[in-house]
Amino acid sequence: MELFADIIIDISHSKLDQTFQYRIPERLQGILEPGNVVEIPFGRGDRLTKGYVLRITEYASCPLDKMKSIETVVTDLAGADSKLTALALWMRDYYGCTTVQALRTVLPFRQKASVKKKRTVVLRLPAGEAQQRLEWFRSRHQAARARLLEALLEEPALPYEVVTGSLKITAPVLRAMEEQGILSCESQHVYRTPAVLCSLREEEENRAEQLSGTPGGLEPEGFGRTDGFVLNEEQQFIVDEVRQDWQRIGFAQYLIHGVTGSGKTAVYMELIALALARGEQAILLIPEISLTYQNVLRFYHRFGDRISILHSRLSPAERYDQFERARSGDIDVMIGPRSALFTPFQKLGIIIIDEEHETSYKSEAVPRYHARETAKKRAMLEGARLVLGSATPSLEAYYEAENGRCRLFTLQKRAAGGTLPRVCTVDMRTELREGNRSILSRSLSEKIGERLERGEQAMLFLNRRGYSGFVSCRSCGHVMKCPHCDVSLSLHRNRRLVCHYCGYEEPAAEKCPECGSPFIGGFRAGTQQIEEIVRHAFPEAGILRMDADTTKGKDGHAEILRAFGRHEADILVGTQMIVKGHDFPGVTLVGILAADLSLNVSDYQASERTFQLLTQAAGRAGRGERPGEVVIQTYDPEHYAIVSAADQDYLSFYAREMSYRRLAGYPPAGDMMAIHLASENQDQLELAAGYLAKFVRQLAQRRNAAVIGPADEAVARINDVYRKAMYLKHADFRVLTAIKNIVEQYIEINSGFKEILISFERR
Ligand code: ADP
Ligand code: ZN
Ligand code: ZN
Repeated sequence: MELFADIIIDISHSKLDQTFQYRIPERLQGILEPGNVVEIPFGRGDRLTKGYVLRITEYASCPLDKMKSIETVVTDLAGADSKLTALALWMRDYYGCTTVQALRTVLPFRQKASVKKKRTVVLRLPAGEAQQRLEWFRSRHQAARARLLEALLEEPALPYEVVTGSLKITAPVLRAMEEQGILSCESQHVYRTPAVLCSLREEEENRAEQLSGTPGGLEPEGFGRTDGFVLNEEQQFIVDEVRQDWQRIGFAQYLIHGVTGSGKTAVYMELIALALARGEQAILLIPEISLTYQNVLRFYHRFGDRISILHSRLSPAERYDQFERARSGDIDVMIGPRSALFTPFQKLGIIIIDEEHETSYKSEAVPRYHARETAKKRAMLEGARLVLGSATPSLEAYYEAENGRCRLFTLQKRAAGGTLPRVCTVDMRTELREGNRSILSRSLSEKIGERLERGEQAMLFLNRRGYSGFVSCRSCGHVMKCPHCDVSLSLHRNRRLVCHYCGYEEPAAEKCPECGSPFIGGFRAGTQQIEEIVRHAFPEAGILRMDADTTKGKDGHAEILRAFGRHEADILVGTQMIVKGHDFPGVTLVGILAADLSLNVSDYQASERTFQLLTQAAGRAGRGERPGEVVIQTYDPEHYAIVSAADQDYLSFYAREMSYRRLAGYPPAGDMMAIHLASENQDQLELAAGYLAKFVRQLAQRRNAAVIGPADEAVARINDVYRKAMYLKHADFRVLTAIKNIVEQYIEINSGFKEILISFERR
């Protein structure tokens, strides 16, 4: 039976989501797989061109005599590419996007200008012999050759540009001397190196020079180099267990649940060293905001030039070069945010995701992939292991562990000693009742005063995560919620309260329906106001503020943190940005203002986000010698997310939150998929959403899936584009995938959806 392959040629062009069919020659049958990279005759002159095999089929799409054959499978360097293409195809099917969108996410495409070569002219003769030659050239009046040899005797490797430039040596002369074995012209691919690594390398060389008088490198793999301590028993246990599995099995998944400072990073380093010892490579995902100089430095000290990093400030060419270095074996460890997951290593041994609960691991652009899920798929495809780490694991990760699909390790104590901070909760309703209308509670003010007196530092964290205009009562704490979805309603300009899941609406209340108080409304304070209030209350204190406004510059964020680290201010006021990254030994007090603000985001994950934020923020206190204290200000002190965060009790939070998710069928108890619709034409959008909802409801009914909406998105209009969404829920993700596939076809064949941008999102 003759077989055919659907092949995509060019992923650098989004328009070319077009496949071409080729015959599979007999010698490749049974070998060729979807995802393989092949060479095919293409275009004018049948130039051999690289393509990606998407599908193998027995049906020819055009007459056989018109169809060309695949020339070869590119196996050597494209091994990694083939696996990544297979990963892209999975992403397309799972998340719902076009093949080109998926491939472009996974394989950054080559840009012509991106290959830089450095050429050097190198002396090949011992000095004595070269000197003799030099005399000889001089005696023969061969001035050019003599000039070059003279220069090479002084500097045995000269840049090509210098030789042909200021030395004025022509190519024929160079060639002749090369043939005589006097010199050789060498060319080397130069990779653009991220600036951080350049400065690390320089510092390291300077340090080594000072120490020994000669420039010295790092030991290649850095074995036995630790941060100056041995792993404790808990840490060593994890490393040993993973090592044993590694010798026996391919894919395996682990979750390290360890409080902040419990030594997770130290464990990651040991696991990476294990990979290198086996001749395998490692990817470490870190949220961009934690990719600080200090963090990178730790890894650089251990692994030297075997690592590279990715971050958002790299140019596309720099980014491409880092991937090329990985592909060619120039590096073994890639550290970076979400997109580092697609590093094309030849033998990937381990993927580690630090702070796996972070929302930045989810892509907001199509395909809306989640790095955790995608990393798991990649690890499965490549027989690698996946290690997740967090002080506050995502419900998804912990649920996998609970169900035995992921091995759980726990790190209970801070590795460098020190105790967890003492946490107290302040009920802001009581403050109001007792006449304090300030945004600072009396107890927090008092504790700030104490810190200033003792010369210690404090952080004030305003929880404004995902703030979306909910309405609450300042007297009793009551929050206006959707009666159908159990998420908070958002206040719209037309004074109506709207649910962003199901579309339920009601007029905004003038009085609290619970207690009748008129103090009901939205929460408006920002960091700037808080800074002013604190300045007013503590005029003698030095205050720094960190939010989107003060960190606009290139390094604004790092600069503020550095200044605070040097104790140039006593109080740091900021949004969730200040929760991450640095350890400040001088900080002994963390105040959390409006702790429940993020509870009321109209999102089923609101409690989880709140718990994570509060726990992480609390973890900032008392990282040094002196014990830390945390004050949580809230209108909802009995809420389980706040109670468990104050107790630093993940398990009790997990249990409560899972029972809510089970009851409502939200992930990870069930699967959920969003269908997003967007258009500049509001009427058409309404109409299309109506039609689509009707079709989806029919499909869902037959499969016992629930449909919610359509409703306006949390932000109903961006840049004059109107946005709506509907949600599907079912216990089994395969049912949702099946529905998605049918909906995709329905959209494609119905011209009525042409003007509407429709995209899918899992959970
Ligand atoms: P995490 O990643 O869990 O926040 P780290 O690995 O950064 O924790 O460790 C926190 C601090 O404890 C670091 O300063 C680190 O050098 C130190 N540390 C880690 N493991 C040990 C150990 N076994 N003994 C002593 N100090 C340790
Ligand atoms: Zn009330
Ligand atoms: Zn609702």
